[in-house]
Amino acid sequence: MLEKSEKNCCGCTACRCVCPTGAIRMQENEKGFLLPMIEEEKCVQCGLCERVCRFERSVGKERDAYAYGIKKKKGRRYSQSGGAFALFAEALLEKGGIVYGVAAERANVFYARASGAEGISKFKGSKYVQASVGDVFWNVKKDLEDGKAALFCGTPCHVDGLVSFLGQKNADMKKLITCDLVCHGVPSPRVFRDYYAYLERRFGVIREYDFRKKFSGFWHSHIESFLLKDNRLYVSENYPNLFYSHLELRESCYHCPYASEKRVSDLTIGDFWGIEKADPLYDDGNGISLTLANSKKGMELIKEVRAKAEIREYAFKDCLQPNLQHPTKQPEAYGAFWDSYARHGFEATVKKFCSFNETDYRKDTSLKKCRRAALQFARSVKRRAKKML
Ligand SMILES: Cc1cc2nc3c(=O)[nH]c(=O)nc-3n(C[C@H](O)[C@H](O)[C@H](O)COP(=O)(O)OP(=O)(O)OC[C@H]3O[C@@H](n4cnc5c(N)ncnc54)[C@H](O)[C@@H]3O)c2cc1C
Repeated sequence: MLEKSEKNCCGCTACRCVCPTGAIRMQENEKGFLLPMIEEEKCVQCGLCERVCRFERSVGKERDAYAYGIKKKKGRRYSQSGGAFALFAEALLEKGGIVYGVAAERANVFYARASGAEGISKFKGSKYVQASVGDVFWNVKKDLEDGKAALFCGTPCHVDGLVSFLGQKNADMKKLITCDLVCHGVPSPRVFRDYYAYLERRFGVIREYDFRKKFSGFWHSHIESFLLKDNRLYVSENYPNLFYSHLELRESCYHCPYASEKRVSDLTIGDFWGIEKADPLYDDGNGISLTLANSKKGMELIKEVRAKAEIREYAFKDCLQPNLQHPTKQPEAYGAFWDSYARHGFEATVKKFCSFNETDYRKDTSLKKCRRAALQFARSVKRRAKKML
């Protein structure tokens, strides 16, 4: 019988979706991550749940040696990097296809289905929290059965789970395009919910929360922002600091088999870190998506979007970043962090274990600071470019 812990389960829901008797449900653990639970009286021991699970058996495809730096020509502002996802999503919509991605409503982050531009606008931008999959795998299967083209974009573990589930169901996957992220690891939904509640207690009702605010010319930074109902805008580095402490990631992320240059999707997107050195004149500080074409389908979609983007090809070594080589390392204080969380809750724990500073909430004056930093960045790019010429 399927036995899963947070260490060897990414919460993709493939086992729940494939179960013929509905014996599996996803249940939140004390850290806020979803795990499959089996109702033994409903289980018929068919073994499908074990067969569909790919987490410890995943093998990515060898890919060709080139990577692309993609910049959407128009409308990159709300995309996390160069807007590669939006380009692919728009191409699918033009063909009457369906797009699956991750949206956020207040503190809840979840996969959803979109058949129009308004829907995909909600998927733009990274939500640094593990997204719940809900019934999305079933919806993808239904769309494919109805003859629709579908693009599914998410973490590589969830893409692999989807493909495994569809394979078990003998679904026709010719019209499915998969796109995964270079993924650092997914933070705990519980920590984010607690953080969101903390912000609202201190500042008032939040109208818009942005995990990584993209200030013009300042893409290389990682600053969160939140806009309150009364239009005050705050920026801070507290949530990014929680994320980069690596203490609140799902345990399976430290054993992630997908943090490798072998990929499981047709396309892989990420931030093109290193572009400022590889091609300083191309880097305008407004975001460039690293894009890996891992299959013929992926390659074709890149060709399709050429007219709406600037696309340059790079050697893979120019875009290698840690999570394309190995998973994020589990910090030694991981156990102590979660023990403290269970006993003392959010505030006391993050103050003790992370660089969490109660006073690090700046009103829009900090926007001036960001603009100044953006100018400095632009000047440094010019200097580097001059040296190269
Ligand atoms: C948890 C997390 C960790 C990441 N770690 C890295 C990293 O280490 N290195 C790196 O280069 N890039 C990382 N990224 C990806 C990066 O932040 C951008 O998403 C990427 O550069 C694509 O940008 P874009 O402009 O092409 O697309 P965007 O318009 O920003 O679209 C992003 C896509 O990501 C999907 N998405 C957003 N949030 C989530 C989520 N919580 N779970 C699953 N899918 C989501 C959306 O559905 C959308 O399809 C990470 C993203 C997330 C969510």
